[in-house]
Amino acid sequence: MLLSRTEREKKAAVLRVESEAIGAAREFLVREGFVELLPVIVAPLTDPLRHNTNRAVIEAYGSHWHLTRSMIFHKQAAVAVCDKVFSFSPNIRLEPPEWGKTGRHLWEFVQLDLEVRDGTRKELMELGERLLIHVLERVRERCSTELGFLGRNLPLPARPFPVFTYREAEERFGPDFEIRLSAEMETPFWIIDFPVDVREFYDREDPERPGILLDYDLIYPEGYGEALSGGEREYLPERIRERIARQGLDPAQYQGLLELAEDGLPPSAGFGIGIERLVRYICGLPHVAEARLFPRVPGKPSMI
Ligand code: AMP
Ligand code: MG
Repeated sequence: MLLSRTEREKKAAVLRVESEAIGAAREFLVREGFVELLPVIVAPLTDPLRHNTNRAVIEAYGSHWHLTRSMIFHKQAAVAVCDKVFSFSPNIRLEPPEWGKTGRHLWEFVQLDLEVRDGTRKELMELGERLLIHVLERVRERCSTELGFLGRNLPLPARPFPVFTYREAEERFGPDFEIRLSAEMETPFWIIDFPVDVREFYDREDPERPGILLDYDLIYPEGYGEALSGGEREYLPERIRERIARQGLDPAQYQGLLELAEDGLPPSAGFGIGIERLVRYICGLPHVAEARLFPRVPGKPSMI
């Protein structure tokens, strides 16, 4: 943790940018009518994240509690109370140690997780674009000294961002399309229409196009990779049950969600955007760890 003077100055510049970006995102969402929820840290159920089978669980009062991997189910329940919600949600994901070198992964990170009752993919993609542009504008306006110090010339993208379907991107750029496209593009862009089996069960399958999801990922240019993932959600109990079964998951693990759905979950759509990745992109940093003062890098020890 003993940093040289130059390292301290660099860290301070990044943290000032981060603070400004968080403030700008919060201001934007409150202006749009969103209510900020305090984050959920432990819960009986959390995001299944099939790519990540290592579960962080604690025992308390005779039960097992998951450390939050995302607030997906809590957001879906919350929009029954307030129609637009967001939370700066700390997530614990025990990513494989080799992911410590991707530049994109921490095992503790914060996502700005939001959800809109009756929201549609189109509306949420527009919201994502406007949110990102607002944050970039604000940082460029208020942190020009910091960006200059970091040697970052931060471009301001124009809306609407380009859109690729998953299939089109895969056909044109092969299986590593996300990384290849991210490296080639000069503006953020969307990937939509993921096939049902590559995503989690809660993203809604298009009733008109079975096998295709009503979801969306925003990808940063310049090789920085994924910014956010989102989707319209499954909210009918029979659909949720079918999707859980299709993925071979144990419905008993999702009893709480199924009961909420039986009582009536509203239709909704939302997304989660990683704060450290946002700051990495804004500041042009080699690794997301540089966006934290006390980073948790997979496989790497920490003194504090
Ligand atoms: P997901 O729903 O899994 O796509 O996560 C939502 C967002 O959180 C992603 O688009 C990233 O911006 C961010 N994120 C996910 N996993 C990590 C990680 N291990 N480290 C840092 N950010 C992450
Ligand atoms: Mg994702």
